Amino acid sequence: MPIALITGITGQDGSYLTELLLSKGYLVHGIVRRASRTERPRIDHLTLDGTIYGSRLFLHYADLQDATTLRRIMLKSAPDEVYHLAGQSHVGLSFEIPESTCEFTAMGTLRLLEILRDLPKVPRLLYVGSSEVFGNPVESPQSETTPFRPATPYGVAKAFAVDMVRVYRQAFGMFAVNALCYNHESPRRGESFVTRKITRAAARIKLGSKETLKLGNIESVRDWGFAGDYVDAMWRMLQQETPEDFIIATGRLSSVRQVLEYAFNAVGLRWQDHVQTDAGQFRAADVQSLCGDASKARRILGWQPTVDLVKLVEMMVESDLAALQTHSDGRPEN
Ligand code: NDP
Repeated sequence: MPIALITGITGQDGSYLTELLLSKGYLVHGIVRRASRTERPRIDHLTLDGTIYGSRLFLHYADLQDATTLRRIMLKSAPDEVYHLAGQSHVGLSFEIPESTCEFTAMGTLRLLEILRDLPKVPRLLYVGSSEVFGNPVESPQSETTPFRPATPYGVAKAFAVDMVRVYRQAFGMFAVNALCYNHESPRRGESFVTRKITRAAARIKLGSKETLKLGNIESVRDWGFAGDYVDAMWRMLQQETPEDFIIATGRLSSVRQVLEYAFNAVGLRWQDHVQTDAGQFRAADVQSLCGDASKARRILGWQPTVDLVKLVEMMVESDLAALQTHSDGRPEN
């Protein structure tokens, strides 16, 4: 039974990746932070399942700053594959908390690399980089050879981590690779991200809320895919013979305005009647239109996105409607 260890297992991607690896027969270890509440809504369906938790899935407490604990967990679990997903994942928020963003994303990754290279059996490592490393890009679409020009604290931290993964691959011969992922969403996306803000508001308004949704720049464009597809690419990357980095993207740009249209159409409403733009929510510096060229992933990994943005937004709205109808207090399910 192959053994995988996931940092960031409680996150959007971590939860989909856990399901994927369990379905492929892996034994999965996950690192979780101690919190004052024990609910982990994205993986509770797995940890509360007595046939899975404790036999094929195990959780361990650690923080990316706890090098000693992380080393102990690595030694004890002896993974064949490590998927390093943990980090402060909100780009806009990285302007408000730049120090902890860099501490976890940049230094946290370096710390992990140092631990891994000393292990008796060095596991394969996948790191989730980000399109934000390209910031204001020199070319479009971006490929694996496009130079980094990050424009946000998050992007700078990711660029450091991605380059460090490359350095350890070259200097120490580690099988360590970067998935340079563009935005990916799902019904499990955090509530502070714009797509989920929109789908939740559309669902609430459909159910009778009189609120007005306030958003920043609705002309911002992104290359949006489905998280379930992106974790499949991550797994494929670690099954290759040679360690290489890959762009994981749809190659299609859409605006926040289009997400609004798809979400409100899904509940039979006009977004123009319920949305206001709010200059206070514009980012200090927004990246330009980042669009990924994933032709290498298509060619070598045999990977391609399976869910388009219309379907993705509909899935999210449906899930938010169902959650609101289940929880009369409006508490989301995930
Ligand atoms: P989420 O925010 O949903 O999940 C982040 C995970 O990291 C959570 O499990 C969180 O734990 C954990 N984490 C954060 N800080 C620490 C820390 N100091 N120590 C231990 N664990 C920590 O993000 P996603 O699942 O969407 O993203 C996964 C990775 O992919 C991230 O690195 C993100 O930056 C990157 N990425 C994501 C993209 C996207 O569009 N989703 C695009 C490109 C890259 P907790 O639950 O305790 O908060």
